[in-house]
Order: sequence, then structure tokens, then C-alpha cells
Amino acid sequence: MLNAVEALNRLREGNHRFVADQSSSAALSSSARREALIAGQEPFAIILGCSDSRVPAELVFDQSFGDLFVIRVAGNIVAPSQVGSVEFAASRFGTRLVVVMGHTQCGAISATLEELQGGATNQSRNLRSIVDRVRPSVETLLSGRLQQSTDDLVREAVRANVRASVNHLRHGSELLEKLIQETGLLVVGAEYSLETGIVDFFDNIPATAQQGLFGGMLA
Ligand SMILES: [Zn+2]
Repeated sequence: MLNAVEALNRLREGNHRFVADQSSSAALSSSARREALIAGQEPFAIILGCSDSRVPAELVFDQSFGDLFVIRVAGNIVAPSQVGSVEFAASRFGTRLVVVMGHTQCGAISATLEELQGGATNQSRNLRSIVDRVRPSVETLLSGRLQQSTDDLVREAVRANVRASVNHLRHGSELLEKLIQETGLLVVGAEYSLETGIVDFFDNIPATAQQGLFGGMLA
């Protein structure tokens, strides 16, 4: 199993290929690859991302069957079932990297902002449960910043929401805290840009991972 820094570098390199239109996933998604994984999986990273159709984790990181354990939910929120999914993968497969990935122009973030600014409220209790998870970090941003443009607010809110999810995963689970302390499990935040295709890792990336962009384990 790759350690967290190696896993992070592998994701970065995959995203570089994706951005450069040099994706290799078609070759990796062969029937032989699929069959080789029937006996078991060993995903090297866990991705908690948004359900938005424009942000498929395997594609933006140029990865294939068996590489990523992906949890997708609108607004990349962290509710108990998301924590449980991360716990499952980290403890069962020994995966050492968890990435919470938001994205620019996220509809769940915009909907929360609209509601907080007095716009339409969500009728459905189920939809509201998502907005309620996003709301605290956006509310903090909003206080005293009413002059800011909506675009700027959404941009900041996306990152604030990712940070809140990262924080929840780091501190909201005894099992994950133990894995962080004892095995080097790393939980990081990232933002995918719809405009450029680039994934920017921005939350508490260890210095070794920042430096080692092309260093090391990947050929
Ligand atoms: Zn979204």
C-alpha cells in the first residue's frame, strides 16, 4: 500500500495527465484489469467528492478500476454515513490518504448561500439536510461581508466547506483519529476547477508532499 505522500503524488501526476489531455485510463480500464480485481481491491486513496456530473474522481485523477475508493454526495458533506464509509475503507484496505474534494461553481454551495441571503428555501427535508451541513461554514463567511460579489462568496464558501469536512473527518471519528496517529493516515482538502481541470490541494499538505511532486515512487 502506498503511504499518504506517495498516494498524493500519484493523484497529482494523474491530474497533470488529465489536464494535458494525456489520460491513460482507457488502457487501464481493460477487461484484464477488471478481472484481476475480482479477488480483492487495494485502493490507494479515498476520495470524498461532490456528485456533480462534471467532477468524476477517476477521470480527473486519471485512475482506473480498483485505484480509488470514492464517496460522492452533493456538496461533499460529511454526515455519519460518509464517516462510516471512510472508516470502512481506511481500516479494511489500509488506505492511507483521504481527499475531500470540492469544486468551483458547486450547486450545493450556491443553494446554501441563496438560502442564507433570504432566497428560496428548500422545501424538501432531505435536500435541507444537505444545506444544513454546508450552512455553518458559509454562515461564518457571510457575517460582515455582504458587499462581496456572489462569485467571490461562492469561491470562498467552497473552500470553507471543504475545510469543515476535512476537520470533521479528522476529529469526528475515534477510529480515524487513531489511524491518523498510529499509521500516518492523512486527510487533506482539495478543490477541482471546472474551468481548468486542475485539482488544487490546499489544506495542510505536508511539506514532503509539496516538494515531491514528481519525486519518487511513480514510474
Ligand atoms: Zn458540487
